[in-house]
Amino acid sequence: MTQLADLATKCSPNWCPGCGDFAIWAAFKNAAVAKGWDNTNTFLTAGIGCHGHLLSFTKITSFEGLHGRPVPVATGAKIANRNLNVFAFTGDGDSLAEGTNHLIHACRRNHDITIILHDNAIYGLTTGQTSPRSPHGFKSKSTPSGNLDNPINPVTLAIASGATFVAREYAAHIPKLSDLIIKANDHHGISIIDVLQSCITFNPGYAHEFYQNNTYYLGKDFDKTNKKQAFEKSLEWAMPTGRQGEKQIPLGIFYEVNEPSYEAQIPQIKDQSLISNPPTAKDITGLLKKYT
Ligand code: SF4
Repeated sequence: MTQLADLATKCSPNWCPGCGDFAIWAAFKNAAVAKGWDNTNTFLTAGIGCHGHLLSFTKITSFEGLHGRPVPVATGAKIANRNLNVFAFTGDGDSLAEGTNHLIHACRRNHDITIILHDNAIYGLTTGQTSPRSPHGFKSKSTPSGNLDNPINPVTLAIASGATFVAREYAAHIPKLSDLIIKANDHHGISIIDVLQSCITFNPGYAHEFYQNNTYYLGKDFDKTNKKQAFEKSLEWAMPTGRQGEKQIPLGIFYEVNEPSYEAQIPQIKDQSLISNPPTAKDITGLLKKYT
């Protein structure tokens, strides 16, 4: 049974006070405690960005890769050991700029992994440059006269690319986000959660108040198996009504269908007993000591 204390490392979080990363981290740890995720059954990876520090503060086997590359690392881990719960933490700069191709191809292959996208609409780690999620006209150090590009909508992109579980949540809704992370991991196929998070230091326009005032949950009658409806609903962010007081950013599960995952279609991965020399657990303490 995993306890919160079991997940603690010697590193203390170095995020700015009030950063949405704290909430995503808390939601993930609560989910890990609820489901018993630990070093023996779970693997985490992350790309480069403030989100990536999460690996240093969470005592679960992990690998922080190159910028934009958490998704291929996650797919490799899942193929190597199909029994692992595999989570790829990434940022909007990470997987919607440098790593967009990896994200799209992982979606169409329906790899059995969970992607948690820290969506703060800015490059925070490098002190505030316009990202692929920043709105048109956004002013920053990299676009002082205003962003000429239109933002990518990760929910729309994931649905269009073939993902079979696509959701959006707001980071500060910690219990709901924990539940969503569990559902995403339970899903057999690729799961993407677009987590709206505030970068309170460099993107004050998307502060907590903005999300509290502009988000709402998809209703119980929303048919999350209807791809066309999910796609159209996902566009609401991109085409706000502009009417004052109207909440325009939907949260919840947009799309969820059961289709064979990539791993389930390969007999040797689906059934490890078919492998003539299946991998066995090895004590790597000696190896680790060489590098510490
Ligand atoms: Fe969070 Fe932004 Fe600070 Fe990074 S720079 S830790 S994203 S508030």
